[in-house]
Amino acid sequence: MTEVFKGSFTQQEPIPEEGIEAALAVMRSGRLHRYNTAGDEVSEVALLEQEFAARMGVPYALAVASGGYAMATALRAVGVKPGDKVLSNAFTLAPVPGAIASLGAVPVHVEVTEALTLDLDDLAAKADQARVLLLSHMRGHICDMDRLMEICEGAGVTVVEDCAHTMGAKWRGQWSGTHGHVGCFSTQTYKHMNSGEGGFLITRDAEAMARAVVLSGSYMLYERHLAAPGPEVFERVKYDTPNISGRMDNLRAAILRPQLARLEAQCAAWTARYAVVEEGLRGTPGLQVIERPPQESHVGSSIQFLAPDWPAARIEALVARCAARGVELKWFGAPEPVGFTSRYDSWRYAPVAPLPRTDRVLAGLLDMRLPLTFSLDDCATLARIIRAEAGALFQARE
Ligand SMILES: *Cc1c(COP(=O)(O)O)cnc(C)c1O
Repeated sequence: MTEVFKGSFTQQEPIPEEGIEAALAVMRSGRLHRYNTAGDEVSEVALLEQEFAARMGVPYALAVASGGYAMATALRAVGVKPGDKVLSNAFTLAPVPGAIASLGAVPVHVEVTEALTLDLDDLAAKADQARVLLLSHMRGHICDMDRLMEICEGAGVTVVEDCAHTMGAKWRGQWSGTHGHVGCFSTQTYKHMNSGEGGFLITRDAEAMARAVVLSGSYMLYERHLAAPGPEVFERVKYDTPNISGRMDNLRAAILRPQLARLEAQCAAWTARYAVVEEGLRGTPGLQVIERPPQESHVGSSIQFLAPDWPAARIEALVARCAARGVELKWFGAPEPVGFTSRYDSWRYAPVAPLPRTDRVLAGLLDMRLPLTFSLDDCATLARIIRAEAGALFQARE
């Protein structure tokens, strides 16, 4: 009998009951705007920021409307101007180059390695082209952050981290998002905490945070923040920082606070699922799993593997045969952007230089989501199906 998988790759878990209760309380109060507080009430958003900063071990955190907004705001807060070049990963998703383009700045793509991390040799070669790197920890793969920071510090490049896929992950025991100057996170439904839309920006730089708060639309009510610098810092920036509204509201913050409290357990549950699929795929003829460095504590909310040098037709056949058995694989080699999968050459607003290493990796790169609604048994089933279909296609090659 042919096994068919029945789970939904886009189904996340429900919001915790406590979050639903807290959201109802916010709605009953009518005070959804973060600065709409009664008396000396502290808003849900301010509390969430305080809790997130404490969790990440940094003094400052700002909750905003999306991960993309967090990145654009971080770039503005570190001084990126229209026309400036910003280094970034060739392998990432559209909100990353989009954040750069939203400032009228210009992405400069850096190659990716077979470990799916930024190619640090290519970064070193291009570091003199820009003052800022928007580093995307795409699909949760963290590059050698020690070497990356050495390269960037040596070249005077400010690092902004896109941690949309590494919320809760670490490099050598240090939270992802705290190595660079600013860390950006998303709480959009498919990330590690779910408020539909939302994001965070964290930093240790008081002036950058003051600028980010004013940019996000603080209406000069910055004293109501609990994870922001003192008023003297705002005095220095408030007259020349524009308001580009992108605040988070109390409803979303209420939903997120209980999720933050259980983030570590959730991350462990993802990584257990990842380990089952990884073990099931390891050693499949023709496929290559991504080996993870020991310094990395990753969060396995999705898994990637390579079908190196497979012709496009065989990869398309693998995707189709897996789909027929209920297994949704995304292929990064497809010529047209589909769903959440897009390639650097689809972002035609950015100049494209040849990236042969990235092209070879993307041509064989397959990607699968692992929502927490999948059980460990489900994960074993997924790996069995992929292994059987890939094995059959690889054996029948030529
Ligand atoms: C989702 C995502 C973001 C942020 O996205 P928003 O939808 O704006 O919250 C940033 N980078 C990557 C790689 C993402 O997948």
